[in-house]
Amino acid sequence: QSKRAGSHGFTVYQPGMVDRRSADAALAGDLDQALDRDELAVVFQPIVDTASGRTLGAEALLRWEHGARGPIRPDAFIPVAERTGAIIPIGLWVLEQALAQAGTLGGGRYLSVNLSPRQLREPTIVRDVLAALARSGVPAGRLVLEITESALVDDGNGIAALHELRAHGVRIAVDDFGTGFSSLQYLTRLPCDILKIDRSFVAELDGSTEGAAVTTAIVYLANVLGLRTIAEGVETREQAAELRSLGCETGQGYLYAKPLSPAGLAEHVKERNPAVQ
Ligand code: C2E
Ligand code: MG
Ligand code: MG
Ligand code: MG
Repeated sequence: QSKRAGSHGFTVYQPGMVDRRSADAALAGDLDQALDRDELAVVFQPIVDTASGRTLGAEALLRWEHGARGPIRPDAFIPVAERTGAIIPIGLWVLEQALAQAGTLGGGRYLSVNLSPRQLREPTIVRDVLAALARSGVPAGRLVLEITESALVDDGNGIAALHELRAHGVRIAVDDFGTGFSSLQYLTRLPCDILKIDRSFVAELDGSTEGAAVTTAIVYLANVLGLRTIAEGVETREQAAELRSLGCETGQGYLYAKPLSPAGLAEHVKERNPAVQ
């Protein structure tokens, strides 16, 4: 009997095609061992004051160099790690790696670490973050946790955890802001300090009113709510200039620096911030 395309819910196997579930399972199995095999690394992308070029902080970004397949993009493996729960130990490891670079970054600059929805749902998340801070000796005020909007919708426990972390001095950034599903009214109740303007909106900045519409609205909203903004994915001088004229003076993107190894980060800080060292 031949398996016809989807007619009875069969997966149709073709040469060279692997269905998503078994591909995920293979990836998930490898991911479980990635930490032990030393295949994971954390890189750091500077966040800068766009007027002076000074470094204000850095975002920690996870990298996976798979033993057999080579580099795998976070967009491909983080969702898998979310589903299996592997993101919980891995996420805490990223946090530790980030806090370990506080000295390299120096000058009171902040470390920004992505926190996945799955991590936020862990009952021990507040305790775990505070313990990592205590072990590292880094003041809570130098840590920013980045959470996507969609992670916060309808998650009372997650929001309570964020309130608690903020009460300890940790700052909260809403990542990829504008791409999620939260209502604007909802935002006014969120425990957060920073809105990260998604790079899809930054890419639209072309000098036109239409191109600037979403960024203008986000900056306005942030000002009203007393929040700061960070533009993601700044690639050109024109975008940087337009962002400044719109009132967003903090940026992150290839124009300033790509994600860097800890050694590269040290060099970047020394070059760009001579007086502060
Ligand atoms: P994100 O948190 O929004 O991070 C910004 C992404 O934009 C990074 O991609 C960064 O390399 C990329 N980027 C920075 N500047 C530019 C630019 O000028 N142009 C363009 N085109 N891209 C730029 P990356 O490192 O591939 O990470 C993708 C996503 O994976 C992150 O998006 C984040 O959601 C997730 N991720 C990465 N590391 C972690 C982690 O440790 N934990 C969790 N939970 N998620 C992570
Ligand atoms: Mg982020
Ligand atoms: Mg982002
Ligand atoms: Mg993003």
